[in-house]
Amino acid sequence: MIQTEAIVLHGFDYRETSRIVRLATREAGVVSVIARGAKRPRSRFGQGLDLFTSGIAQLTLHPARDLHLLTAFDATRSRPALAESLARFNAASALGELCMRFGPEDEGGAIHDALAAGLDAIGSATDPEVPERTVAAAWRLVTELGFAPALEECASCHRALASDEPVRFAHRAGGALCRLCAALAPGARALPPDARATLITWSRGGTAALTDLPTVRAHQRLLREFVEEHLADGRALRAWVSWEQGDP
Ligand SMILES: [Zn+2]
Repeated sequence: MIQTEAIVLHGFDYRETSRIVRLATREAGVVSVIARGAKRPRSRFGQGLDLFTSGIAQLTLHPARDLHLLTAFDATRSRPALAESLARFNAASALGELCMRFGPEDEGGAIHDALAAGLDAIGSATDPEVPERTVAAAWRLVTELGFAPALEECASCHRALASDEPVRFAHRAGGALCRLCAALAPGARALPPDARATLITWSRGGTAALTDLPTVRAHQRLLREFVEEHLADGRALRAWVSWEQGDP
């Protein structure tokens, strides 16, 4: 049995009294667990298994199985603000989907911690601030997943890029390309210096306070394309598509 910090990413009822829940844990990555009796009136899980709630989970791991046993979950932080607007809920769901699809391993708990910080940033945002905070949190998650894009040196020849240098962004190459290398990479997107500076800020865990809608939309698209190139397994990122198409 292990005890670990965890965040509820997804849940559904199972049989009469139980729930099956996906957790992003610090110690065991993203796992599916069964909470037996969670739907009983005086369940020991209480309201703790609400979506996006943080808590201390006690798990009995079954090494040979995909479904583990949740024996206790003590909520330490619920996030009701995420359900109070569709913009926040869709954004939180998009971050959760990124973890569920690509974060089965979590060495040192960095993905769990980046997710927790991202959910808190979205929960305290006004609706117009939500898209920027979500893109920022997603780039940090992508970085923690090991796919940090090259931004300060050319992804191909590794020459250092001046901060005011216009470059192109090539998903397959893994980031920014200098002028010479971009000429060999058709389809790479132009990445102006200010957009590159914003990406550098985000990948370091900062925020850029961007609310200009066309700019945020362009970043949303760049991010989704990068994720699809490097992380995706051919299945659509459904929560991401809703989030990208939804109201800002
Ligand atoms: Zn180059």
